[in-house]
Amino acid sequence: MAGSDADVIAAVATAPGRAGIGIVRVSGKTLNRFATSLLGAVPAPRTAARATFRGADGQPIDDGIAVFFAAPASYTGEDVLELQGHGGPVVLQMLLRRCVELGARLAEPGEFTRRAFLNDKLDLAQAEGVADLIEAATEAAARCALRSLRGEFSASIESLANRLVELRTLVEATLDFPEEEIDPVDREDVRRRLKQLQAEIHRALESGRRGSVLRSGLQVVLAGQPNVGKSSLLNRLAGEEVAIVTEIAGTTRDAVRQTIQIEGVPINIIDTAGLRDTTDKVEAIGVARTWDAISRADALLLVIDARVGITSADRAIVSRLPGNLKPLTVLNKIDLAEQSPMVEASSDGCIRLSAKTGEGIDVLRHALLALAGWQSGGEDVFMARERHLGALGRVAEALERADRAMVHSELFAEELRLAQRELGVITGEFTADDLLGEIFSRFCVGK
Ligand code: GDP
Repeated sequence: MAGSDADVIAAVATAPGRAGIGIVRVSGKTLNRFATSLLGAVPAPRTAARATFRGADGQPIDDGIAVFFAAPASYTGEDVLELQGHGGPVVLQMLLRRCVELGARLAEPGEFTRRAFLNDKLDLAQAEGVADLIEAATEAAARCALRSLRGEFSASIESLANRLVELRTLVEATLDFPEEEIDPVDREDVRRRLKQLQAEIHRALESGRRGSVLRSGLQVVLAGQPNVGKSSLLNRLAGEEVAIVTEIAGTTRDAVRQTIQIEGVPINIIDTAGLRDTTDKVEAIGVARTWDAISRADALLLVIDARVGITSADRAIVSRLPGNLKPLTVLNKIDLAEQSPMVEASSDGCIRLSAKTGEGIDVLRHALLALAGWQSGGEDVFMARERHLGALGRVAEALERADRAMVHSELFAEELRLAQRELGVITGEFTADDLLGEIFSRFCVGK
């Protein structure tokens, strides 16, 4: 991080462009002098104050509302001043420049939240929840991120950590005694607690993995001949929800990818339509990108005209796809083929439906959600990041090694210590500076 925590940072906190209101946010240890120069006086804390924002020459830059949060009762834990002016890019830049004139420097991405973390206003998992909420592409993802932001995920990690501490205390109390003097009842108690902890870590991992699909979405390869109804099926699957799927950084729609959502789970559709041999350079790049996306996909959706069945062209495409894709075969246009839709996928793995009438669509929706490991509601899942899953995995490994080392109290105690440390990595108790830099650099400026 450039500069020290002591300096004053400022940023436009609202999105670029024109809007009714635009906010410049300032944070620093003390902002009394700053506020006096800009507004003529320090506003009463936590009160919306009508104010004129003035330039160095005393001329008004804008008329707006100033809200002052005195340290430590603020987002960052420092003095924070929110200047709500008119949401035009020029006037906001003038106001920002004035803040810099008054000694502020431009905030780096996520720097307000980083300060909040460093000042113990929120832990690392909560800070990540902030970014996830802002980036959420679906309602389910937003709800999930908000739970992390409010500390539910951290609380569950903390409760695991507390149990681990209790266990460590029990074990470390025995370290001074020879093995043979340890009461078998105590040993049994330790074993029982360890097993319980292991089970809970596995549950946390499981719910984290399910939740992580909310961030990245399920990657589904769509294959099928022209005119079998692929586009119709996508529209039907997406239903009304397609309108609220927004483009988010890193998942921008391109020729090969379209995102729909089912019950709030983003499903990224990778279209194989463009997969043909080509000598055109630009097209070849597109084809290579599609293959790259396919190599990382989770599932294959093969759409077939129910009246025609699987053709040799379908087989040719499928044979070129990686074998680990979970296949879902869809027989479309059953309204024309006069077959009745199934209640569930039949034993041959085909789902019969009509994109036109909507019959059988729910079976496919549920099949896709099941592939994503999603259960209805998803209230118990956490939108875990790779970082969290990695740490939980290492906790599980340490507990397994502890389990095997039970008769060697010192080894056992050491593995428990390692496990506790890894849990602390999630909430940021033990976190290297470069990791913090990486996490906060992905935030937007002004947050
Ligand atoms: P794509 O080329 O695979 O994307 O196919 P489209 O979605 O463009 O559909 C091709 C044609 O089939 C269109 O005229 C659709 O209206 C029609 N179609 C798609 N699905 C169905 C279906 O389930 N039943 C009927 N009767 N027609 C369908």
